Amino acid sequence: MAKILIVEDNVANMKLAVMLLLNAGHVVVCATDAESGLTLARAELPALILMDVQLPGMDGFTATALLKRDPTTAAIPVIALTAMAMQSDREKSEVAGCDAYIAKPLRYMELYAAINKLLPSEPVHSPAPEPCAASDS
Ligand code: MN
Repeated sequence: MAKILIVEDNVANMKLAVMLLLNAGHVVVCATDAESGLTLARAELPALILMDVQLPGMDGFTATALLKRDPTTAAIPVIALTAMAMQSDREKSEVAGCDAYIAKPLRYMELYAAINKLLPSEPVHSPAPEPCAASDS
C-alpha cells in the first residue's frame, strides 16, 4: 500500500487509474492539471506519481522536470502516461527524468508491474528476535 498521485485531465482515464490503484490497495490523490499536481506532490509527498503527458497548460514532461529539480520531490518516482506509444515521447520522458513510461489505454498488469518495480519494497516483517542468550535449556 502506498500513496500515489495521479495527474490526468481525462475523466475516463482518471476513473480507470483510480479504480486500478484502489483495487491494488493504494491510497490515491488526484490532480487534473500539472500546476495542481505539483502543488499536491509537494504537500502530500506521494510514494509515486502517475503523470499524463498531455495536460492542459503545462505538459507532463515539463511538470516532471520541475519535480525532479525540486529537492523536496526529486526522489519520487514518476511514471509517464501517454496516449500513443511514440518513440519521441519515450525519449522526452527520459530527458524529463521520468522513471518509467506507459502507453494508454492502461492495462492493469503493465501498470501494477511498473508500480511495483518503482515503489520502495515494503518492510515485510520486523527482524526476527535475537535468540535469547540467557535461555536455560
Ligand atoms: Mn491528457
